Amino acid sequence: MKKVQNFINNEYKDGSDAKTFPKLSPLNNAQIAEVCEASKSDVDAAVSSAKKALKGPWGKMTTEERVAILYKVADEITRRFEDFVAAEVADTGMPQHTSQFMCVRGAQNFKIFADVIKNVPTEFFEMATPDGKGAMNYAIRRPVGVVGVVCPWNAPLLLMTWKVGPALACGNTVVVKPSEETPQTAALLGEVMRDVGVPEGVYNVVHGFGPNSTGEFLTTHQDVDAITFTGETRTGAAIMKAAADGARPVSLEMGGKNAAIVFADADLDVATEALMRSCFMNTGQVCLGTERVFVERPLFDTLVNALKEKVAALKIGIPSDHSSNMGPLISKEHQAKVLSYYKKAVEEGANVVIGGGVPKMEGDLANGSWVEPTIWTGLNDDATIAVDEIFGPCTHIFPFDTEDEVIERANNTKYGLSSAIFTSNLQRAHRVAAQIEAGVVWVNSWFLRDLRTAFGGAKNSGIGREGGVHSLEFYTELKNVCIKL
Ligand code: NAD
Repeated sequence: MKKVQNFINNEYKDGSDAKTFPKLSPLNNAQIAEVCEASKSDVDAAVSSAKKALKGPWGKMTTEERVAILYKVADEITRRFEDFVAAEVADTGMPQHTSQFMCVRGAQNFKIFADVIKNVPTEFFEMATPDGKGAMNYAIRRPVGVVGVVCPWNAPLLLMTWKVGPALACGNTVVVKPSEETPQTAALLGEVMRDVGVPEGVYNVVHGFGPNSTGEFLTTHQDVDAITFTGETRTGAAIMKAAADGARPVSLEMGGKNAAIVFADADLDVATEALMRSCFMNTGQVCLGTERVFVERPLFDTLVNALKEKVAALKIGIPSDHSSNMGPLISKEHQAKVLSYYKKAVEEGANVVIGGGVPKMEGDLANGSWVEPTIWTGLNDDATIAVDEIFGPCTHIFPFDTEDEVIERANNTKYGLSSAIFTSNLQRAHRVAAQIEAGVVWVNSWFLRDLRTAFGGAKNSGIGREGGVHSLEFYTELKNVCIKL
């Protein structure tokens, strides 16, 4: 049985109290690895090695030296691309091509933030003083210190490196707590870090769970200077409480209940293609995914039928089957949660346009966490499945009549992560985008990401923005130096 170890001070280690937990395959629920759970003293060791590294060779490197080493990290991920894809696919069951896209982004995250830190200036102000001699102010950026990085399972390498890339570019050290569901790529990245010469203690990985386990030990640790988190909103709230002790800053990327709005003048092919990805990519396990689609009434039936036809053509299957474009959900536990929403939709009177159950899978795959892609119509905006984040391959399609009405309905949620608008009317696109309460709005597209742009959620979907220069705000302390002349 494969063993996945913690990575502390550039060494792979079992948990100090020898505790392990099984990693089960989403494909058939069989155990594929034994994961070493980090104890409190392992988390202490990881944090103290990260703290020590701030004063060691890493802390003494110039920006240019750090940038060069991060480029090597990206190149080494690319060289070992197949290993990363295999690890990610084993943990998540996602199709190979989805994982390949995510692993490319995993490597890019190191180069993009290396470029940002190298190129972004700070500020300078001259000021008058009563003696007439004046003063000048300039700002310099310094690392925050040890950053705790707590990650989810839905895009493990991409979302982890989205935080580790900028944290290291800014000169911090990190202790990463990957999701208990997806420990392998974070562990593998340790080999890459060590092989390209990242000094001891800069990148550490501790495996385990949330409450009363590794996640809590890390986020309550007083030598962790800042915490960056991606995951569910209620976990984010628990982490914020933990961070309050010691007044440590948090960056939180959390859940969503994202709306797409399709106006009658939209290009139907563009809207349908984007909605297929936004509703069903990665089996609906994408934070930016669309679980509410609002369609202007004249286009409603046409769009429902177009999506139904495309969903019927989706091929559910194992990652090695290159014709498959939908894998299982991450776990049996998540499958049970998603199916409970499928049941609830019917109980509340939904019309099931397509799906709604578990696909028939052959042999031991029948034990996996598969669900059918599902479309509903017929419910009101306050139905349970239209309010709660489900995080599965499902969406409800609602008709609407006016622009003002749809803006109000799209915004009628506690979440505010992303939205997608489809229209060929430029004026309307700008007008509606400005009024949507979300951190990211796409027009005539979805998940088109320029990594230099701000990313984050409004309302209960997040606190803070990451991406490009925005990441620097979190991962550095901006210090003003005032010089009296
Ligand atoms: P989760 O909140 O259950 O877990 C995320 C991580 O937090 C895991 O590593 C977990 O072990 C850890 N954790 C749980 N409780 C903790 C605690 N009390 N203290 C410290 N750590 C704790 O989320 P998940 O199920 O892994 O991921 C799915 C969720 O992530 C969805 O809600 C999705 O919308 C959200 N998400 C958001 C974004 C974004 O950018 N906004 C991106 C991806 C996923």
